[in-house]
Amino acid sequence: MSLYPHLLAPLDLGFTTLGNRVMMGSMHTGLEERGDWPRVAEYFAERARGGVGLMVTGGMAPNPEGGVFPGAAGLYTDEDLANHRLVTERVHAEGGKIAMQILHAGRYAYGPDCVAPSAIKSPISPFKPRALDEEGIEKQIADMAMAAERARAAGYDGVEVMGSEGYFINQFLCAATNQRADRWGGDYENRMRLAVEVMRRVRAAVGRDFIVIYRISLIDLVPGGQSFDEVLRLAHAMEDAGATILNTGIGWHEARVPTIATSVPRAGWAWVTRKLMGRIGLPLVTSNRINTPEVAEDLLAGGAADMVSMARPFLADPDFVAKAASGRAAEIAPCIACNQACLDHTFEGRVSSCLVNPRACHELELRYTPAAQAKTVAVVGAGPAGLMAALVADTRGHAVTLFEAEAELGGQLNMARKIPGKEEFHGLVEWFARLVQSARITQRLGHRARLEDLLGFDEVIIATGVTPRDPAIPGSPAPHVLRYTDVLRGGAEVGARVVIVGAGGIGFDVAEYLAHAGPSATEDLALWQREWGVADPAAHPGGLAPEGPRPAPPARQITLVQRKPGKPGKTLGKTTGWIHRASLSGKGVTMIGGLSYQRITEEGLVVRRGEGPEEVLPADTIVLCTGQEPLRDLAESLRDAGQSAHVIGGADVATELDAKRAIDQAARLAARL
Ligand code: FAD
Ligand code: NAP
Ligand code: SF4
Repeated sequence: MSLYPHLLAPLDLGFTTLGNRVMMGSMHTGLEERGDWPRVAEYFAERARGGVGLMVTGGMAPNPEGGVFPGAAGLYTDEDLANHRLVTERVHAEGGKIAMQILHAGRYAYGPDCVAPSAIKSPISPFKPRALDEEGIEKQIADMAMAAERARAAGYDGVEVMGSEGYFINQFLCAATNQRADRWGGDYENRMRLAVEVMRRVRAAVGRDFIVIYRISLIDLVPGGQSFDEVLRLAHAMEDAGATILNTGIGWHEARVPTIATSVPRAGWAWVTRKLMGRIGLPLVTSNRINTPEVAEDLLAGGAADMVSMARPFLADPDFVAKAASGRAAEIAPCIACNQACLDHTFEGRVSSCLVNPRACHELELRYTPAAQAKTVAVVGAGPAGLMAALVADTRGHAVTLFEAEAELGGQLNMARKIPGKEEFHGLVEWFARLVQSARITQRLGHRARLEDLLGFDEVIIATGVTPRDPAIPGSPAPHVLRYTDVLRGGAEVGARVVIVGAGGIGFDVAEYLAHAGPSATEDLALWQREWGVADPAAHPGGLAPEGPRPAPPARQITLVQRKPGKPGKTLGKTTGWIHRASLSGKGVTMIGGLSYQRITEEGLVVRRGEGPEEVLPADTIVLCTGQEPLRDLAESLRDAGQSAHVIGGADVATELDAKRAIDQAARLAARL
């Protein structure tokens, strides 16, 4: 009997059957825009091979004005059709099913030609949209129906009509963005007319035996969002208009509530889907922050949904379903919901990938093929760089010995996982440890490698990481001055008033750690909802609590400082920085930029703001989070002894180091040894 009987049960849609209840949700990868369709095809083919029941492509524009940015990928020309056919053929050859998402961005389209129900600019776009007239609306509907017809011609098994996340259709549904006085605006009947008309026309264009998913915004998370009665009405209307499946959408892009970040509790939005269960006749898909087969199975077994959508977990591991089905769930590479290589890349105009799996979207170029000649390989340091290098080298047939000075694997990830809101890092370290354990890797834990340990190996990889930078502020060292490692690793005592020097990723994390008291909100949904002001949309339209966010009181009085002018936090992740800033603001953390540090005294940190006078930032404890320097003495000793070494991760370059770069560099090195 399967460990995941609900997850792995087929879903009969009448005219076709999905092999299991797992949908790979839509993600923009940036590959399509580069016109590299063989790469797109390989990306989807690998995931089809991994057994997922149904995949949905990234959003495809039905016309130029609907694209998320000028030149965004779409399906409206003959050339587009041929490209998409490459994808569907490869997926079908692997036994998979794939639907194309039709995405009209409306006022979110990043360009001056964007269109919307009303000429109201979004707070996250510089472009004011043009309000469509009757003819313009008809054109958009016709283009979406045509995109669906073309998707069928291109060989897709279905389409998903994107009706959530604050895009075009969603903009019609909400009074805040739809202030029309004609039959497309006003009361809800009128505001939902566009969504219903699109579904009706799409169904008419594709015939009965074609999957049509509607991604419905169940909780808008913006002022003026839909009430739950309205959502329910729309769900019924979609059923009547010919939808096959309803997929969950949570929150508009401009919402100030996190919806998929790592600090969102696992399955933290499934309760909204559950509210619809049993009230409509269509299969319902739930989504957001579901990243293990256990969580997915529990949701389905508990009646939260008929199907589960996971998107980023399929970047982390294309074989998610195959591993779950064959009793190897423990080997599934975990998506830690960091957004660092996927969504952040998208917003930077780069190809997406995955921090945990650098092969994601690089399937053709980065392959772990058997080595021509098996070698002995020493890897020094079991942080993410060393761990990944060891695993890939082992996969390729090399005999690997892994040295780690500490008693446990993980390197700095063991500090990261102590931060409230970063609990997913536990899973990452545990996954690495399990794989190392089951590989043929010889582990030398608790052993600080010396030169003599390394002589004689065919290849030596130095992944010894970093050492905290000493900013050499006059007055330090002093008993009340600590490094972040003393706090996070050493458990040093920290006073009630804290100044954190350095406001990079680690400064922010240390602030979160020290501001925190009691259970982590990430592990307590009710607490998390209070912290972010989330309410039941049945009581409060849009799902925003009228009293706003109510974070727990902070454990300490914290000041976070940097030398750069401007507000700290600008170097944080594109899609998550605002969450860190909002979280610390909610905990009363004072953030100051543009300081010069004069000296440390018993009273605190003496600073100047620009050319201003000296002032004291009072502190019982000062924590230094001022970056790192590479730790690579061993590589230099090896070179002196005539043995070459590869240096990776923080040991190579400490500036702007993160686990993403460490893992990527390690995988690429080990793939060519
Ligand atoms: P390390 O992780 O530093 O590992 C080096 C290892 O080498 C250590 O375990 C050390 O004990 C060992 N070692 C050193 N010398 C020897 C020797 N002679 N013999 C044997 N072993 C030796 N990155 C992200 O991408 N996202 C995040 O959200 C994130 N959050 C973070 C939060 C915190 C609080 C911290 C501290 C870091 C965070 N990072 C994050 C950064 C990330 O952890 C590092 O970039 C990454 O760990 C660097 O990997 P590495 O393998 O190069 O080095
Ligand atoms: P960082 O981001 O480079 O920040 C270092 C901070 O120290 C900066 O605020 C810098 O600001 C200050 N600083 C640098 N040199 C200094 C000096 N000599 N004197 C005084 N201040 C100095 O590094 P980090 O915070 O240590 O993080 C290390 C890496 O881990 C980062 O690259 C980051 O990507 C990664 N990380 C990521 C996350 C995440 O959530 N994605 C979380 C934690 C860590 P000023 O120069 O303006 O003072
Ligand atoms: Fe998940 Fe991070 Fe990988 Fe994105 S980069 S898929 S969020 S682990």
